[in-house]
Amino acid sequence: MNKRHAMKFLLVVLVAAAAPALAWGPVSHIALTYEAGAKNGFPVSSDLVGAYLAGSTEPDIGLDDGKSEDYGTYHSENFAKAMENVAQSKKSPDREILLARAAGIRSHLAGDSAAHGKAGYAEAKKMFHGNQTGLPNHTTNELVVDMIMYDRNKEALKKQSLNFIDVDTLIEVRKEFTRMTGHELANNRDQLKKELLNHKALVLTELSIAHHLSTSDPLKLKQMKEEYSDLDEGTTDGNGANKAIARISEQAKPSEDLSKFKTGNKGFQIKNYLENSLLAKSAQALERGALKLTKSAIIRDSLQNFASGKVEAARNKAFVNFGVNLLNKNLTFKQAVFLAGKATSGYPNDAAQKLAYLEIEAEALKSQRDKALADYNNRPWWKFWLIFTFSDKKKYEQLELQYQAKLREIEQTHSQIAAAKAALPDSDADYAAAVVECTTSNVVCNSAAPSLEELQAAVAAAYKKYVAASEAQDQARIKEAEQELLEARERIKAAMPQ
Ligand SMILES: [Zn+2]
Repeated sequence: MNKRHAMKFLLVVLVAAAAPALAWGPVSHIALTYEAGAKNGFPVSSDLVGAYLAGSTEPDIGLDDGKSEDYGTYHSENFAKAMENVAQSKKSPDREILLARAAGIRSHLAGDSAAHGKAGYAEAKKMFHGNQTGLPNHTTNELVVDMIMYDRNKEALKKQSLNFIDVDTLIEVRKEFTRMTGHELANNRDQLKKELLNHKALVLTELSIAHHLSTSDPLKLKQMKEEYSDLDEGTTDGNGANKAIARISEQAKPSEDLSKFKTGNKGFQIKNYLENSLLAKSAQALERGALKLTKSAIIRDSLQNFASGKVEAARNKAFVNFGVNLLNKNLTFKQAVFLAGKATSGYPNDAAQKLAYLEIEAEALKSQRDKALADYNNRPWWKFWLIFTFSDKKKYEQLELQYQAKLREIEQTHSQIAAAKAALPDSDADYAAAVVECTTSNVVCNSAAPSLEELQAAVAAAYKKYVAASEAQDQARIKEAEQELLEARERIKAAMPQ
C-alpha cells in the first residue's frame, strides 16, 4: 500500500461514518457481538467466530461513500434467511461458515435495533456538556465509541480472526434474496468486489487505529472513557451498549451443529489464520503505513489538504482533523475535539464559547512550549549543530510568543464578555422606574426627590463611561467606571424607601 492508498483508507474510515443511518461503527458491532457472546454464550463454536464477527459488520458493506443502494437489502431479516438458504446447498465447512455469517448479520440487526434514530446513543450523546465543538455529533460519537469498545475487548479481539464474505458467495446470496422477495438487484461483480475490498480495508484500518491508540496513548483513552461514561447505560434519551448486548443475546440462539462444529482440517485452520487473523491483518495495516502517516507533520498536512478536496462539508473536514488529532499524543482528548472544529469553522460567535476554545488552545500551546524548553535545556551534546543554528531555542521562543499572544486574546475575550454583561440596561432601567414611581407617589420619597434624581443621573453617567471604556478596550478605565457604577447603584439603593 503506498502512501496515497494508506491516506485514502484512513480517509475512508473518517468519511464513511457520514451515513446518517448507522447506529454503531464496525468495531462496535464486532465488540458488542463479542461481549454478548462472552456474557451469554456464542451461537457458534470458536472455529466459526471469525465468520460470525465479520458477518456482524457486513450489512454496512458499500457504505464507504456514505450511502448504499443495498443498505435496506442487507439490513433485512430476508437477507439473513437468503444466506441460510444458500448455506444449505454448500458442503462443510463452507456451509457452517455461511450459517455463522448469517448469525453475524442477525447480530448486526439486533445491535442496530437498540440504537437507531434519535434515541440511539450515537445521536443522543453530546460531548462536553453539549458545548458546540464544530464536529458532526453522530459520526464523532461512532468513532469514539469504536475506539472505546475495542479497548475494552482488546485482549480477546487480538486473538480473533475475521473471515469476510467473498464476492461469488455474496452474489449467490443476492440472487437468492431476489428469488425470495422479487426485489431485483443489479449484480455488478466488479462493483461488488470493490465494495467488499473497501469494507475489509475500512474495518481493518479502523481496528489498527483503535489498536494503536489503545496501546500507545492509554491516557487519552482514559479521558475518552470518562467523557463517555454513560456508554453502557445510554443517555437519558439514548440507548446504550447494554441494551444492544441484551438484544444480540436474545436472538443468538445456539444451534447444535454450529456450537459443536470443529474443523479437523489443519490446512483450513492455517489458511484461515493467515488470511483472517486480526492481529496479523491490523499489524499489516500498520506496517503499510496507515498510522505512520499520522506521525509525520508533512503527511498530516497533506492528509488534511487531501481531505479538503474530497470532503465537502466543513463539519466533515473537522472530522478528518479530529481523526488526525486523536492520534497526536501531544493533545488531550478535549484538545483533539475542540481544535479540530476550530481549524475548519473558526471560533464560535458566542464569546463564552470562544473563550473555551481559546483556553484549550492556550493549554495545548503551553504544553508544547514546556516541551520545547525542556528539549532546549536538555540538548544532548552530540546535537552539535544546534549550537550554531539554535533552532531548538528558536522553536521554544516562537512557542512562547504564540502562547503569550493567546493569553492576550483570552484577556480581550474576557473583557468582551464583561462588557456584554454590563450592556444589559435592565437593572438601571428598573432603578429609574422605581425612582419615578417614588417621586410621584410617596411622601418620604418626595422629600428626597431631588437627591434621588441626582443619584439617578450619576448612575447614567457612570454607565455611559463604562460603555465607552469597554468599546475602547481600556482596562484601567473599565475598572474605574465599573467601580463608579457600582457605588452609584449602591447609593441609589440606599436612598430608596425600604
Ligand atoms: Zn447497520
